Amino acid sequence: MDRREDFLPLSRPAIGNEEIEAVASSLRSGWITSGPRVVELERQFCDLTGAPHAVAVSSATAGLHLVLLALGIGKGDEVVTPSLTFASTANQIALSGAVPVFADSDYGTLLAHPEEIARRITPRTRAVVPVHFAGAPADLDPIREAADRAGVPVIEDAAHAVGSAYRGKAVGGHGNVAIFSFHPIKNITTGEGGMVTCGDEGLARRLRLLRFHGIERDAWRRYGEGGSPHYDIQDPGYKYNLTDIQAAIGVVQMRRVAELNDRRAQLATRYLEGLTGVPGVDLPASPPYPHHHSWHLFIVKVTSMDRDAFFGRLAEYNVGAGFHFPPCHLLRFVRERFGTKEGDLPSCERAGSRIVSLPLFPGMREADVEYVCAAIREIVAGGAR
Ligand SMILES: *Cc1c(COP(=O)(O)O)cnc(C)c1O
Repeated sequence: MDRREDFLPLSRPAIGNEEIEAVASSLRSGWITSGPRVVELERQFCDLTGAPHAVAVSSATAGLHLVLLALGIGKGDEVVTPSLTFASTANQIALSGAVPVFADSDYGTLLAHPEEIARRITPRTRAVVPVHFAGAPADLDPIREAADRAGVPVIEDAAHAVGSAYRGKAVGGHGNVAIFSFHPIKNITTGEGGMVTCGDEGLARRLRLLRFHGIERDAWRRYGEGGSPHYDIQDPGYKYNLTDIQAAIGVVQMRRVAELNDRRAQLATRYLEGLTGVPGVDLPASPPYPHHHSWHLFIVKVTSMDRDAFFGRLAEYNVGAGFHFPPCHLLRFVRERFGTKEGDLPSCERAGSRIVSLPLFPGMREADVEYVCAAIREIVAGGAR
């Protein structure tokens, strides 16, 4: 087959004229940091998820930092999370002073089985952090039951899961804390940004304080009409607020989230059709419970050749790809600090050495998917260069 002329990237944000206009309008308005557009984006998240509270932050990583802090998690504590997640999750747990305790993930779905999480809960466990991997929701009910038995909160890493649903209810609306990301690769973006949803009003209030210096009221209320310039701080906070310039993009993206995710699902279906039966390529398995997948990533496992060689061959076809993610228990600092090692988590290690994320973004055409599938068929067949 002929090599395409233009490079097909792994991902590209779906930014249109509406987003550009919304940013311009924020810039012209005279208020560019956290203000009415952030409030609007938070309201949209409450509407989408059914969560009573949504707190916008500068990234999902910042959100996780603040949630761990607000829940008082730190030295001497353990937090159970899958090893197969972005390093951000393990980093924040380690930086809080707690010990990350890693669960294995299923080779097919790349999700941690609830039993795997439950059996790692000890009297020192202070939270459980399931990950909705690639947009497939984790099995929240049994995970929540295990956490309830231990009396600890569930903090959902929902960075991949805006618009995902578990048993008919949106991710973020299950009464837990959930953390979303708006990094450019994610299903909706604000450049950088994140959102924490939760059901606990006291926690939401602490997060609002911690994201902005610990100051009681939002700046735009202080500096707005009828505002008072005084403030006081009981506990010092960070500087993790989202700006209105960013939120302006997010507000438009949220209006389009169902359409953007539908497009991802159509393309994922094409991939599944185009790659079924291709020897040496294992396809993502569907979780065995009612769910809605937001198809953040389309990840295959390459079994018949070396993964790096496969990346190299894809590049020859002018196709980008990703590796999401190296298992956290094998990161150098984790091995050195927490004594984890190869062989600890066989199923996620087997997946981890084979996973490849294929291009998937709403602006892709069906023909792009067909091209990638045809390229993969040639590559695994050892075909023409
Ligand atoms: C992207 C990502 C994060 C971090 O999101 P940021 O907004 O970039 O901080 C956390 N967890 C997972 C699983 C991610 O993929």
